[in-house]
Amino acid sequence: MAVIEVARKPARILVGEFRNPSAIGVARAALEACGIDGDFIGAIVRNSKGGEDAHSRSMLSVLVPRGRQDEIEVVLKESGAIRVAEPERLGLDLRQIPHPGISEDLELKLPSGREFPASSWAPAISGYRVRPRVLDERDRIWSFDEVELGYSSQEALAEASRCLRCPDSPCSQGCPAHNDIPGFVRALREGDFHRGITLLRRTTSFPAICGRVCDKARQCEGSCVLGKEGGDAVAIGLLERFLADWELREGLRRSQLVSMPPPTGRKVAVVGSGPSGLALAGDLVSRGHEVTIFEALPIPGGALAWGIPAFRLPPAIVQAEVERLAGLGVVFKLGTKVGVDVALDELLAGGHHAVFIGAGAVVPTTLGIPGEELEGIYTATEFLSRTKLSNSYRMRDYQSPLVGQRLIVIGGGNTAMDVAQTALRLNFSAVRQAQQQEHTTIDVAETALRLGFREVTVVYRRSEAEMPARREEIEGAKEEGTRFKFLTAPLRFIGNDQGRLAAMECVEMELGRPDARGRRQPVAKPGTELILEADTVVLALGYRPDPMLAKLVAGEHGGRAGLIAIDKQTGRTNRQGVWAGGDMVTGADTVVRAMVAGQRAARDVDAYVRGLAV
Ligand code: SF4
Repeated sequence: MAVIEVARKPARILVGEFRNPSAIGVARAALEACGIDGDFIGAIVRNSKGGEDAHSRSMLSVLVPRGRQDEIEVVLKESGAIRVAEPERLGLDLRQIPHPGISEDLELKLPSGREFPASSWAPAISGYRVRPRVLDERDRIWSFDEVELGYSSQEALAEASRCLRCPDSPCSQGCPAHNDIPGFVRALREGDFHRGITLLRRTTSFPAICGRVCDKARQCEGSCVLGKEGGDAVAIGLLERFLADWELREGLRRSQLVSMPPPTGRKVAVVGSGPSGLALAGDLVSRGHEVTIFEALPIPGGALAWGIPAFRLPPAIVQAEVERLAGLGVVFKLGTKVGVDVALDELLAGGHHAVFIGAGAVVPTTLGIPGEELEGIYTATEFLSRTKLSNSYRMRDYQSPLVGQRLIVIGGGNTAMDVAQTALRLNFSAVRQAQQQEHTTIDVAETALRLGFREVTVVYRRSEAEMPARREEIEGAKEEGTRFKFLTAPLRFIGNDQGRLAAMECVEMELGRPDARGRRQPVAKPGTELILEADTVVLALGYRPDPMLAKLVAGEHGGRAGLIAIDKQTGRTNRQGVWAGGDMVTGADTVVRAMVAGQRAARDVDAYVRGLAV
């Protein structure tokens, strides 16, 4: 670890103490708005435990320019400081405050090779991120409204000001799309939202979607220096989402951000309207090509539309991206399944110069254990899509899945958390409807019990530490009342006389040796069989691609596990004029990786169709 020396200056220091750590970001933004920035702003000091517990003391130190002490006191207090005083009066040791010039022996440690910019901007390290507003957990389960409410402008500015602008931008390297994160965060911090979103749109096709659903902790935010140094990573996803939502509100999508080239006369067909297909379509239509998307479902968006619950990704956000593409000239042919309603050969023979297959992974994985055919057992695909497509998330309760007294979700990924949280909402929606029908003020709990509402339990065969779901999703599900039963695996489903699910026999597991990927394998413990009552089970075990499309491309014997083989640099398949990308190639993966696959294939398709003689 190299040590970077920082300049020493004589200093007069004021410290604001805050009860709410997130108010510190707001205070810093307010100070900056008064022109007190850069060298004058110091850092949060955590208590000796470094935690965010009741004893934490969250401080903001400010180097006071001559004659501005009163002003700074007012700003700090109006931003939520409970006390403002000189460090000694707050019992602080100056060496606790990593601020330029306030300590004789100050050393600010940063990873080797990283330097601060040469400007007057100084290291202002805030340990805590500005927390976004979220719906209270008691209110969430009554509706499918989005849980995370995002940042206000002031909050976004405050959070952006935490970024160190690391020259080697490890966050960008951790982002599969390689977004210019220091660049867009800096633009945001300077209040230039237009430049911020323009920088983002150079590399990402769906900032409003990725900002919401990306696994940031394992990507950009997982690589952020602040997180690695023991504090909170910059909230990159929330800042991306802030700019994208601002763009949406401002209506800039077409008129100001995209200039259309003349038509090339080349036509491209896209199979599937999920993230890879939409990203490719957007890139190709912006290069002057005619693009038609063939989507099997009656709604566009693929898994973005049917597979992600509205409380995580509101349908309006996906719809806005679709409308943006339609506005650029992309044609959507909905309810048209390639291979059934129209043949792949027809597309190639029918005037399309290239075909891209990005139909995603839609076939659910099942357990293959006795009783799986019983009524009351759903796959996550069916459960989530019926909820979404039937509009039951808007409380119009037709064709929505039936949620009984005891619902069990099997799996430990994000989809399992989505199912659990959806099930709770469907149940509470039923309670609300009953209340409305009865026109009474009957107690909610009593109504719930009368309707038979009991519980939603996630059953997972490993321990919580091995769950692949995002941490925030697991916490969200817990907060809302989902129960968890770890180290438990199903053996068989048990039906009643009417052929309906009544219970599930399980066995306890223990973790054995690690597999090739380093994950410890669950092993059944003999003699620990148990019966769990359940009238509804949802299998959230993962998805795989529809093998029919792989066969259309590679022949009857082609396509291992329904996957399509491609050239990784270009996305080309073995078949002339056919490209593929996303989950059809990799198996079920993230939205951002599918988007990047579509962008990569678009570059090669563009070069290919331009080289064709017309
Ligand atoms: Fe550095 Fe984090 Fe800012 Fe990226 S987001 S430039 S890693 S501080």
